[in-house]
Amino acid sequence: MFIDGTWYEPRGRSKMKVVNPATGEVFAEVPKGTKEDADRALEAAARAFTQWKEALPSERASLLEKARAILLERLPQIARLLTQEQGKPLREAEGELKATATALEYYARKAEEIEGEILPARAKGMRNLVIKQPVGPVVAIGPWNYPVLLIAWKVAPALAAGCTVVVKPASQTPLAVTEFVRCFAEAGAPKGVINLITGPGRELGEALIRHPRTAKVAFTGETETGREIMRAAADGIKRITLELGGHCPLIVAADADLGAAVEGGVYRAFRNMGQICNSINRIYVEEAAYTDFVEAFVERTRRLRIANGLEEPDADLGPMIDEAAREKTRRHIQDAVAKGAKVLYGGKEPEGEQYKKGYFFEPTVLTEVNHEMIVMTEETFGPVAPIMKVSSLEEAIKYANDSIYGLVAYLYTQDLDKGLRAAEALEYGTVGINNVAGGEVEYPYGGWKQSGLGIELSDYGLEEYLLVKHIRIRSLR
Ligand code: NAD
Repeated sequence: MFIDGTWYEPRGRSKMKVVNPATGEVFAEVPKGTKEDADRALEAAARAFTQWKEALPSERASLLEKARAILLERLPQIARLLTQEQGKPLREAEGELKATATALEYYARKAEEIEGEILPARAKGMRNLVIKQPVGPVVAIGPWNYPVLLIAWKVAPALAAGCTVVVKPASQTPLAVTEFVRCFAEAGAPKGVINLITGPGRELGEALIRHPRTAKVAFTGETETGREIMRAAADGIKRITLELGGHCPLIVAADADLGAAVEGGVYRAFRNMGQICNSINRIYVEEAAYTDFVEAFVERTRRLRIANGLEEPDADLGPMIDEAAREKTRRHIQDAVAKGAKVLYGGKEPEGEQYKKGYFFEPTVLTEVNHEMIVMTEETFGPVAPIMKVSSLEEAIKYANDSIYGLVAYLYTQDLDKGLRAAEALEYGTVGINNVAGGEVEYPYGGWKQSGLGIELSDYGLEEYLLVKHIRIRSLR
């Protein structure tokens, strides 16, 4: 743990084990942070805030830039650690860290662009300034699926805005995030500006959120956890940003470029073993394109290469994060099959000695599905793509909107006018037309409905770390 500028490993405390999901082996341990640690970290962050909020924009930018340079230098080593604890193939881990560096670069620039306004007066002699100031110490809590990137999406705008931070990574993946924080320590972050605590979500998370010094909580994780965080933040009316679960539809119109739709669909349904908030969870295909789409989708899925991503850096897929995640996937498939779904591909562990120990599972394609099945309404967070035939684009949109979630929707059509009208009708924070690109730092990313609250990334994301102040001046002359 890193508190008040000092690395610290408490003696004689119980530890949390870190498991390699490709082998099932424990390969590291990290301390279980306590309420006392949370208290020390937030007191440190609060003390540091009094200075950091006064730092020049160029000083804040410089810290982010230096941390970025160190991260890029250490990228090969941190990527290996990320693959070891998370399971994603090495090339994917490198990609996550490069995207992290991009986020640091972007918000380094933004640190120097925070501006206010002078608004017109209502009466003679009055002046109205609007300024933006950092909200205060931020608690940043992240998930295990993109552990470094999703913490960086909080730390970078927070530090750019002049906030200080206490980071809590997910219990399954604390190691690469620790190295990320080390980049800031070595870049010369003043003590207390960035702190790191490892520990179990519920107890430690609650202590961090409820702490009187905590001004804001930035969270990515499950919708259910998001509800708990809202409750914990309610007493202090703390500012919150929540990036929560998704259940993302892909709509394929009859006039779509089927090759592109299949390529995008397979990639976004199974990447990171479907353990992404913006994974495609269900696919609606217009009748005329249905048979060809399904056939090509299964064919493309069959070609995905599953492996231990340290041994095969360029594999498409690694293992799932743990047995609980794999079991949930099995449960969702069994429920669908019991209600009449057909398994066209996958549905089980891959065969072969190399898959015996880890939490591997085959990418799975289902057809004959309907909205009575759990897989069509609840987030599986696993490699399952259910495909449903629909009679029109309107019907597809109706089904797509039949969800408590509203994170991302995807649509393939060659008629951009139709695509734009559909995008406006879809109740989602992001709509991708003819592409399945993920979160990019320049554009706002936020869930509608129960997928979240507030925005991450872009200028909108920076605003979440700033408070607006109106200064009303009357000239007495
Ligand atoms: P999770 O909610 O189980 O855990 C996320 C983090 O919250 C962890 O650090 C955990 O220790 C902590 N935590 C758990 N209970 C807590 C509590 N009561 N108070 C405070 N902190 C607590 O989520 P996960 O399993 O790590 O991640 C997967 C989920 O994250 C999926 O639902 C996925 O859709 C979502 N996700 C969303 C986005 C997005 O941008 N919308 C991105 C990635 C993942």
